[in-house]
Amino acid sequence: MTSPRLRADACPGALQTHSAADGELARVRVPGGLLTAAQLRALAAAARDLGDGALEMTSRGNLQLRGLAPGAARELGDRLAAAGLLPSETHERVRNVLASALTGRAGGLLDARPWVAALDAGLLADPALAALPGRYLATLDDGRGDVSGLGGDVGLLAMSPSSVALLLAGEDSGLRTGPSDAVGLLLTATRAFLAERDAQGGTAWRLAELDDGPARVAARVAARLGGARSAPVAVPPAPSLGPVGAETQADGRTALIGVVPLGRIAAGQAELLASLTGEVQLTPWRSVVVPDLAEDRVDDAAVDLHRTGMVFDAASPWARVTACAGRPGCARSLADVRADAAAAVASGAVPDETRVHWAGCERRCGRPRGEVLDVVATADGYRVS
Ligand code: SF4
Repeated sequence: MTSPRLRADACPGALQTHSAADGELARVRVPGGLLTAAQLRALAAAARDLGDGALEMTSRGNLQLRGLAPGAARELGDRLAAAGLLPSETHERVRNVLASALTGRAGGLLDARPWVAALDAGLLADPALAALPGRYLATLDDGRGDVSGLGGDVGLLAMSPSSVALLLAGEDSGLRTGPSDAVGLLLTATRAFLAERDAQGGTAWRLAELDDGPARVAARVAARLGGARSAPVAVPPAPSLGPVGAETQADGRTALIGVVPLGRIAAGQAELLASLTGEVQLTPWRSVVVPDLAEDRVDDAAVDLHRTGMVFDAASPWARVTACAGRPGCARSLADVRADAAAAVASGAVPDETRVHWAGCERRCGRPRGEVLDVVATADGYRVS
């Protein structure tokens, strides 16, 4: 069997927008979820001037702007390029890179941030890689095991400070390298994916969609690099919840990690975040890491952010509740799922220790991986399953 895909993916980008019921939708790739304060300010201004006034977080740590007027994508593109958020028009949709939350600041076996920069540069430097699908995902795990289970096509998982495993479709390939050669190995695997896709004559969007994809891509990589393979190890499953609250960094400063209810960052909230620190990290759990805070600034920062709706209590239902766009943003939706999810949280109707995903139709966009209670709108009301 070859890939069942008959067409190229139509994932939105910053320039290739998607027409939604509430206007054009643009998706801005944020490799590693890492944004400087200046970039966050530029995004907040764009959301306010061109969109619906907010930034929407995705499960891949990217950001979306909704409600754009027809033709606004060009001005958005100019603003993003000026802020360093659109380094290439040809490769903008292929920069899907998840990195461990807090990497380089607290926990982990190494700092994955240099990998993020090197991978992004490597993707942009190769014209052939513009052909990657917009859904292709790389995970860069510093050894804490938080992003390796999140459905990457290719991934790096630090096994020790000096040994890194190459993951293919979320499984260990047995191929190993050192940290400084790891991004090169990942790029070799990415080119092998495209070569195998061509060989199978399909338009697969994901490595796992190829016939025997992980094994064939691993064989192509091994043939190029030579060398023995290690016995594959089990890849840690994705944690159901990300970190929330305060973490002491290795340098003694503090990182605050706040959940953004339903992943919607208001422009003013983004500006407040930008005023507190030089760089933030967006996480796949729809939270934001606010790092590098001096001890005497932590409490005030948490109070100010909490006033804007951010949540720092890991036991809050907001750490477990997600929703798709729903009405009025999505024409397919049978309900305003975000309003209904918020009402459920406010009334205490969310069961303890259970992740709940609200969706306006059976597609269940944005559903987290793993065990989740689905609340799906139907013509007859919500179905809970
Ligand atoms: S799950 Fe359905 S209603 Fe929700 S965003 Fe996706 S297509 Fe739209």
